[in-house]
Amino acid sequence: MNSATAVAQRLDQARKLLRQEEVGLMLVWPSADLRYLTGYAGHASERPKLLALSADGPAVVIAPQLEAPGLEGVPGVQVRAFGETEDPYRLLSDLFEDTPHGARVAVSDGMWAAVLLRFQQTYSSFRYLPVSPIMRQLRMLKSADELELLRQAGAKADAAFEAVIQLRFAGRTERGVADELDALLRAQGLLRADWGPTVASGPNGASPHHLTGEREIHEGDAVVLDFGGMVDGYQADITRTVYVGTPEGEFRHVYELVKQAQEAGVRAVRPDAPAQSVDQTTRGVIAAAGYGDFFVHRTGHGVGLEVHEEPYIVEGNTLALQPGMTFSVEPGVYLPGRFGVRIEDVVAVTPGAALRLNNAPRELTVVH
Ligand code: ZN
Ligand code: ZN
Ligand code: ZN
Repeated sequence: MNSATAVAQRLDQARKLLRQEEVGLMLVWPSADLRYLTGYAGHASERPKLLALSADGPAVVIAPQLEAPGLEGVPGVQVRAFGETEDPYRLLSDLFEDTPHGARVAVSDGMWAAVLLRFQQTYSSFRYLPVSPIMRQLRMLKSADELELLRQAGAKADAAFEAVIQLRFAGRTERGVADELDALLRAQGLLRADWGPTVASGPNGASPHHLTGEREIHEGDAVVLDFGGMVDGYQADITRTVYVGTPEGEFRHVYELVKQAQEAGVRAVRPDAPAQSVDQTTRGVIAAAGYGDFFVHRTGHGVGLEVHEEPYIVEGNTLALQPGMTFSVEPGVYLPGRFGVRIEDVVAVTPGAALRLNNAPRELTVVH
């Protein structure tokens, strides 16, 4: 997202929402939100760097002098640089003065407390609230360009899976397999996200967020592989569970069950269905087979510029699914001390059937 029109459109959409939600000003800290609005992600530091967007006024980025050049050229955004001895908060006084006293100011959820406290001291007559309810309305519905980037990311992750299953697993450590998978993802052109491949073997697979470690993988292990990467900031997130050698009886049974649950979940994705209905569907399949207590997490999460974002596919979320939403469908069964099985694809809601953005084989894959 770098084209001038895309930035202008997104800033205008954000202004429209600010007016709709009766928010006078929003302060967007370095984050996926900042990247979405300006094409510039930045990084948080003690020198505040942020976008101030006024509902009826300008878009201003404040940045330390040494970083300002990197921000020049974002269309429709004024850059105001501050020197080491200047008060950066004062650089936004005109925007606050033009915002009615008592108005609501939305700030990034991840803004450092020290920065927010300075804003609250400097501009004390405003009401501060989190920006996420506004930004999620923009970011949850992906444009055709965003969907294409997510599709490319998914296809590259699929290709890395096809390559990694050609490698030897038995006798290698989880870390060793993860490093090779990481290299295969880079070779596909995926940039590294802030999370690495998870390789969870044997009993470690029963821990859904296992930290890849030094365990040696053996014949007779199920191995959960959860990985991704980014294309132009847009994330892939896929999980496949493979088996080293000849799969035993209960593993086969649980694998087929999770596969059925995942397929049923994807089929339940349609416009206007509540997000929770997809979770109810996958959980229903697993519970009916007697494994309900072993499916210990929500069915999925939104995927976009962040790997966990709205919408969350979880009981209690009645949000109606809409074309353009993208999220994972990833049921799992985790048998403590034994093994885990999870199958995860990212899907896009379309006017018709859900579109899978991952198409690597879901049949039980045997590795050596
Ligand atoms: Zn996760
Ligand atoms: Zn994942
Ligand atoms: Zn996921």
